[in-house]
Amino acid sequence: MFAKLKKWNKEKMKAECPVCGAMIDLPEGTVVGELIECPDCGTELEVESLNPPTVKEAPQEEEDWGE
Ligand SMILES: [Zn+2]
Repeated sequence: MFAKLKKWNKEKMKAECPVCGAMIDLPEGTVVGELIECPDCGTELEVESLNPPTVKEAPQEEEDWGE
């Protein structure tokens, strides 16, 4: 299973921003669930999958007003 990753690492992973449609380079070592920011529209995106690389809009967490 890991043998596949070698070839895979050479290719830059790109995911399409669901908001503006820009292709975003996913840095090496990106993991599912990681948060990245779209360089084009600035939207916070969550890595949904790596094969194929897809991202979705990160859920907006509400500020914790408690305490
Ligand atoms: Zn975008």
